[in-house]
Amino acid sequence: MGAHPPASTPPALSLEALSFSYGDRFALDGVCLDIEAGVFTALLGPNGAGKTTLFSLIARLFRPSAGRIRVGGHDLGSQPNRALARLGIVFQQPTLDLDLTVGQNLRYAARLHGIAGGRARARIAALLDRLELGERQRDKVRELSGGLRRRVELARALLHEPPVLLLDEATVGLDVPSRTRIVDDVHALAARGVAVLWATHLVDEVRAGDRVVVMHRGAIRADAECGALMRQLNAPSLTEAFAALIGAAPPAAARAAAGVGP
Ligand code: ATP
Repeated sequence: MGAHPPASTPPALSLEALSFSYGDRFALDGVCLDIEAGVFTALLGPNGAGKTTLFSLIARLFRPSAGRIRVGGHDLGSQPNRALARLGIVFQQPTLDLDLTVGQNLRYAARLHGIAGGRARARIAALLDRLELGERQRDKVRELSGGLRRRVELARALLHEPPVLLLDEATVGLDVPSRTRIVDDVHALAARGVAVLWATHLVDEVRAGDRVVVMHRGAIRADAECGALMRQLNAPSLTEAFAALIGAAPPAAARAAAGVGP
């Protein structure tokens, strides 16, 4: 008997025709997206595009009005525990306990994931080391800068070694060095094989080679590698490509054709 072809690996995260409304105000309209391991996918959209709503559906805070979500092949509706166990999430609003230390916040989160004892200590130590937070382990979160707090949230999201990492506007309120640091850290995680979905409205957080998914008014308007997207739109920068896609401004080439200056 001949060998069976290897079963294909399901996408790390698969969104199939997702729709959602808040009452009669629609927020997402038939969103389809597969997120792959080892890729940094930037979900780029202006305020109100639907990014946070999408994350809320993936985190199972709300149920979609139509469509399906699978994480590593596990259906979020029918196998929520298996699906959610494969997700690490950094929400837009910080949720650390400010009056606990860094270590206490992480130990508490580890216990919620069923990680205890020596395993928890080893995991926490490794993450604190990788994110250069080791010296702050005994400090209360209240004493940390915004950038350090975000890195603690990133460590917390990684405690259970999820294959998929979602971050919603993770750099809000941070200064430029802190933003750069967290963008670097998350790119490094993607390079180690994590499937990353990074929601932002800031074009400068996208790096060459990243996959860019542009969302506007609840729908996906473009999905391509950063450079390919610029070429498709004949735009000299991602800023111009993004502006063209969300109707903020025509790309430079279109302006030139119309005889309009930059
Ligand atoms: P932002 O970066 O501003 O958070 P976003 O891309 O995350 O934007 P969402 O917050 O998902 O977008 O909003 C999508 C749409 O849903 C918007 O029209 C918004 O006004 C609406 N919306 C969001 N939350 C609610 C809510 N709780 N009740 C009613 N409408 C909402």
